[in-house]
Amino acid sequence: MVEETILGKSGGLRPLDMVNQPAMYTERYKMVKKLFSILKKVNPNTKQALEGLSVQLESLVAKLSRSGQSYRFNMSVLIRDLLKFKGDLLDIKIAGKLLYGEIDEKFLPKSKVVKEVINITKDEALKLLNSVLVPSEVLVKNNYIMDIYSDKKEFNVTGYIPCSRCNTKFQKKDIMRKTICKYHPLKKQRSDKDREEIYPCCGKSSSSTCELRLGCKTSDNHVFRYTNYNELSTITEFNHTKYVDGEKNVLALDCEMAFTSLGYEMIRLTIVDFFTSQILFDEIVQPIGDIIDLNTQFSGVHEIDRSKHLTYNEVISKVIIKELINKNSILIGHGLENDLNVLRIIHDNIIDTAILYSKGRYKTSLKNLSFEVLNRTIQTGEHDSSEDAIAAMDVLKKKLGIPIVKKNWERS
Ligand SMILES: [Zn+2]
Ligand SMILES: [Zn+2]
Repeated sequence: MVEETILGKSGGLRPLDMVNQPAMYTERYKMVKKLFSILKKVNPNTKQALEGLSVQLESLVAKLSRSGQSYRFNMSVLIRDLLKFKGDLLDIKIAGKLLYGEIDEKFLPKSKVVKEVINITKDEALKLLNSVLVPSEVLVKNNYIMDIYSDKKEFNVTGYIPCSRCNTKFQKKDIMRKTICKYHPLKKQRSDKDREEIYPCCGKSSSSTCELRLGCKTSDNHVFRYTNYNELSTITEFNHTKYVDGEKNVLALDCEMAFTSLGYEMIRLTIVDFFTSQILFDEIVQPIGDIIDLNTQFSGVHEIDRSKHLTYNEVISKVIIKELINKNSILIGHGLENDLNVLRIIHDNIIDTAILYSKGRYKTSLKNLSFEVLNRTIQTGEHDSSEDAIAAMDVLKKKLGIPIVKKNWERS
């Protein structure tokens, strides 16, 4: 399908049409064929992909060359480099331009952005991390609660709120009363092929007239989820980390959540150290409200023991401390606003892989990002907050060229 759009109907090795081509069509065609024969020897991609790549490379050379002479010169340099770098497109420049950003990304190696620096120092790594901190206005746009005075959204006083799963309006005081909540556990997705929206949980289309359209799963209670400061803080006050001093550290963080009588609450918290990949904190947490749905399918939490597991307040007193989350910490996560909201933490230094590495209008899921960047499959069954925290952290390392496993970190 993709090949067809690149190559036109006749497919194969036809050069792309250009208004001002620097060389005759027959010459360009010969060059595409030549590129293809070289790529076949040095690049492990499929025949179809290499045909597409040959056409793209030729058209880039043609685009960047103003005369037949410069076309031939640039082409000879490209051919030399393809042989020299054994098809590693990361190292190749055409007329001084790196291929990254010019050539369809699917032809470039997975670790395209930067090469790993094996002997990077801690200070150099910190510099890289500082360069990708998300600016606070971007955080606010992505529903992070940054300043308790910046978020004065209206507060619903009627008592009727929409269920987060089935959208039925219900009275919050009736939340524990038995009813029927029919919903789809997974968010609908637009399939590329036929513009239809499909629920991945059951494969039903959102335009279906059948009764199943309402939901493939049934529960006994409606649920709700607060997202703004005024609402969230009626349940638990926020903790601003600016009051806790400490040394600069870098922590990846992930929570699992459940629906309770008080909304959407944290039931597990994992914190991982960026430099050592060591799990510093990983505990099941008692929610404050009565449990409605542990979301076990996603949370991986099967049971919470009120006599054994830590309470919310105990967790906060163990993690917002100078040795762990302090005002100088850099916190890493994927869609971290959800985690910080259930933790009721306000923090400034954030690296969010969902903001940094999503393309287009919708955020890429951590599952897809992890597969694309790390070739690692996660979330095959129930989610695991340690697996997720480590995946977000490793995606970032890979993107920045920081080794994923590194034992000895030295200050420069
Ligand atoms: Zn469904
Ligand atoms: Zn409902």
